[in-house]
Amino acid sequence: MVKKKTIRTIPQARAFMPVQTPEARVGNFDEVARGFDLENALVECDRCLECPQAACVPGCPVGIDIPGFIRKMIDSDYRGAYDIITEANLLPAICGRVCPQEDQCEGVCPVGDTLEPVAIGRLERWVGDRAIEEGWRKRPYIEPNGFRVGIIGSGPAGMACAADLAKAGCSVTVFEALHEPGGVLRYGIPEFRLPNEVVDAEIGNLIKLGIEIKCNTLVGRLFTIEQMLDEMGFDAVFIGTGAGSPKFMNIPGETLNGVLSANELLTRCNLMVADRFPNYDTPLHIGRRVAVIGAGNTAMDAMRVSLRLGAQEVHCIYRRTETECPARVEELHHAQEEGVDFHWLTTPVEILDDGDGNLRAMRCLRMELGEPDDSGRRHPVPIDNSEFEFETDMVVYAIGTNANPILGQTSNLKLNKWGYIDADDDLATSIAGVYAGGDIVTGAATVILAMGAGRRAARSIKEYLGVRDSDVVYRPQKNGHEGSLFGIDLAERNFARVRLALSKEDSGRNDQGRRPEGG
Ligand code: FAD
Repeated sequence: MVKKKTIRTIPQARAFMPVQTPEARVGNFDEVARGFDLENALVECDRCLECPQAACVPGCPVGIDIPGFIRKMIDSDYRGAYDIITEANLLPAICGRVCPQEDQCEGVCPVGDTLEPVAIGRLERWVGDRAIEEGWRKRPYIEPNGFRVGIIGSGPAGMACAADLAKAGCSVTVFEALHEPGGVLRYGIPEFRLPNEVVDAEIGNLIKLGIEIKCNTLVGRLFTIEQMLDEMGFDAVFIGTGAGSPKFMNIPGETLNGVLSANELLTRCNLMVADRFPNYDTPLHIGRRVAVIGAGNTAMDAMRVSLRLGAQEVHCIYRRTETECPARVEELHHAQEEGVDFHWLTTPVEILDDGDGNLRAMRCLRMELGEPDDSGRRHPVPIDNSEFEFETDMVVYAIGTNANPILGQTSNLKLNKWGYIDADDDLATSIAGVYAGGDIVTGAATVILAMGAGRRAARSIKEYLGVRDSDVVYRPQKNGHEGSLFGIDLAERNFARVRLALSKEDSGRNDQGRRPEGG
């Protein structure tokens, strides 16, 4: 009999995660955290108490069966672990790296009451990376059901929606404004946190479901949503356009040379490879003394990219204190280790000109914390006569984003007062057959929440079109593992619900020796 694990019997410390030293990593864009090796992954699995009522499952926004995948790993069934994760999450190598696990699954892990919680995100990443290495992507042929769905935006929301609809047999076309798919995963999050090859591999897996992606296609300019439904033959549309329009403070001096948004800085570097200029066409001038305004994840990314691009000093200017700082703790620590200078309780009120159209400094105020505001955080209040000049030759705004207004301006979509798309609980918008989810509905959030919204919208679209999962016709591949279609486990599936359309050479048998209905 297997002995029940207790907090005393499990390994007390988290397994070792190799990390590049701060001195080494500021000189390169390679990934900071290198990932568990198998031995360490298994030590970490051993720390899971395998609770019968696991709090981590509801703690995960998409409800991954976490103890289930960890059990498979302990049993050396790594492929089985991947299949369990991908029932709920299509992008494990990505989410294992960037999800704020400390506030989600790991935040409610009972091991965390006494020790450090089980490193669930790192284990998810290990499984996702193993899947990429092993090329686990055989999948069955899915019979088309005749419906066409258009998806606007190829970020996590759009791709998750596209994948679920493609699995249901819909013909799916994704329209993406940029020249590469992935949304923020591609243009926002830097390679030292999320390598592009991981994004390529996992998005590539989704594309192999038969999804067509049309890049360089700005919907609302080339055609409208109404045209997609009336003239282009789409039966339904999903909008996952994110919230990528940067906010500024509207203080004097914002049009000076040397002032830009974090989104521009990150897009130039991550998507347009400005770090390798002139080998690539996009230049990016980095200041000597860079000031980044804001202290969220985007600010951390902008500061750490600036250091890697050669800034001699990087400063974070934030109007509250470290306690209110919205970045993930890990990102804040990494930025501190890499030498970013933090100026808490400070806000700029003007950007100053050198007389030649370039910025030379910011005029700033010192702040103190007053009463809590709508966000529940104490509101920063300027201190009288606290003005000072802060010398800088580059200012980067990372104080949040808004919805891009183009779709709202070019269609009859109902928007809320902040310009985000109004969608009901089923993610239906004011236009029949048009659904929306992810940051364009909620405002800036997280990758996993955007994916969850994309999948929820896919369910609503299937209902709207009258597509039932039980009607989906799959044709299993001849050789190899069949339980691999991101949640469609052909081996386990109830054959009364799934008709298997066997090819001629397969007829008379199925992948598990059972005689399929309709075979
Ligand atoms: P997006 O990822 O923004 O994708 C929207 C896509 O739609 C884009 O590709 C855009 O080009 C396209 N698009 C927009 N308008 C049109 C149009 N009219 N026609 C065609 N295409 C259009 N979250 C985490 O969980 N962990 C992190 O570590 C993390 N770090 C982040 C770092 C940065 C720098 C940023 C900016 C965000 C970060 N986030 C993080 C947040 C997370 O990335 C987003 O919440 C998530 O990507 C939202 O997904 P989405 O699909 O709604 O939108």
